[in-house]
Amino acid sequence: MIYPIVKFGDPVLETKAAPVTEFDADLRKLLDDMFESMYAAHGVGLAAPQIGVSRRIAVIDVTFKEDPKQKLVLINPEIIHSEGRISQNEGCLSIPEFRENVTRPKKVTVRAQNAKGDFFEHTGEELLARAFCHETDHLNGKLYISHISALKRDLMKRKIRKLVKTGEW
Ligand SMILES: [Zn+2]
Repeated sequence: MIYPIVKFGDPVLETKAAPVTEFDADLRKLLDDMFESMYAAHGVGLAAPQIGVSRRIAVIDVTFKEDPKQKLVLINPEIIHSEGRISQNEGCLSIPEFRENVTRPKKVTVRAQNAKGDFFEHTGEELLARAFCHETDHLNGKLYISHISALKRDLMKRKIRKLVKTGEW
C-alpha cells in the first residue's frame, strides 16, 4: 500500500517518534508499505513520521532499486559514531521542490534493530551517512532545515506559507 507523504507543517514531523517494541507481522507489512511509498515518491530514504506513523522506523535505499542488497531497515536507530564533515545539497520528501546545502558528518555508524528485532551496526559514508543522519533526525522530530541558516529557513517557510495559501502545498 502506498501512503501519501506528510508535508512540512504537519505536527507529526516535529514530534519525537515512539520506540518500536513489537516485531510482528504488522511491522513487516508497515516496512513493505514504507519501501513502496518511498519508491513511489522517488526517495532514497523514508521515516515513519513521513507517512503519519510516529514510530522509530526508517527505510533507506541509496541505490534506488539498483541493488536490493543495499536496502536497509532501521528500527530504533541511534548514531553511535560520526566523523568528518561534508556539505552537500539535501532535500526531503516532506519538503518537496526545495533543496539546500547541509553540512553533515562524512562517515556515520548507526546501531539499530532489524525487522526481527536483532541489533546490528552499519557504517555508511557520503550519501548513506547523510541518509542515516537525515532519517534519525526525522525520528527525533527534526528536519534538515534546522541545519541551515535562519535566514534561508525563514525564506523557505515564507515560500511554503504562500503555497499553502494557494492550495499548492
Ligand atoms: Zn526527510
